[in-house]
Amino acid sequence: MPKDCRECIFFSNNRCLKLGINIEDPSSPPCLREEQGRIVSLSLEDLEKIVSIGERKPSSVEEVFAEISEQEEVPAEVEVEKEEVSLEELIGEKTEELPAEKPPVEIVQVASKPEPAVEDLIKEYNSILENLEKNKNNLITLEELRDIIGDEAYESQRRELEEIIEEQRRKLEELEEKAISKGAIKCSQCGALNLPNSKVCTRCGYRFASRAERKAKEKRKPGKRFFFAILFLLIGSVLIYQGMINGDWSYLQSLIKIPCSSCLKGLTP
Ligand SMILES: [Zn+2]
Repeated sequence: MPKDCRECIFFSNNRCLKLGINIEDPSSPPCLREEQGRIVSLSLEDLEKIVSIGERKPSSVEEVFAEISEQEEVPAEVEVEKEEVSLEELIGEKTEELPAEKPPVEIVQVASKPEPAVEDLIKEYNSILENLEKNKNNLITLEELRDIIGDEAYESQRRELEEIIEEQRRKLEELEEKAISKGAIKCSQCGALNLPNSKVCTRCGYRFASRAERKAKEKRKPGKRFFFAILFLLIGSVLIYQGMINGDWSYLQSLIKIPCSSCLKGLTP
């Protein structure tokens, strides 16, 4: 290996053809400096192999140089492992035929409709509800105008309106089912749908009972306790009646000694 680039056969136009880099200081060849580093030195034989991959093998050194100068970058860091990969194998890999392209298959994509959000369902429901009520009012107005517009016009317009109202009712049912399943609240006063966890109806201002309030209401229901009280009185009176008729008070006595715990449970708050 020459100690100066100017003595080297790879040096041309201030450029090292071997490493594919510009040489700023030819007196200090980079191949000598970096031989210990990451750049791998290639022999002329190696270069011949790289250049001739996929092509014919150059016959002379001049041809190799001609090939190198035509290429923009000499792959300086390519290491040719003589032992493991033969030239034939490399060429074979290069010239290997690409697999035939698959015939284009038409993919029919079924556009999946995204599930509407509960907000959208409620919005649509309330808007239809509004229209439905307008149409109902129109029906009343039409009735009043019957004498003016005549029977024929009245009948045809009434049928038309009723069909629209029927269609709107169907749509409302469908929307209500979907929205309620997503937690929407239906106003018991005006029938409008409201967002889950709403406190008041956006349409009429009706105040919805919260979950805690609903529970408290349920507790206040007298049904359960009332039932047990009646049952207790009924059994008591039957036993007293039996004692008076037959003179047998043993049932009543045993009941008083061991009070019916389930009955008492129902009576205590
Ligand atoms: Zn309402």
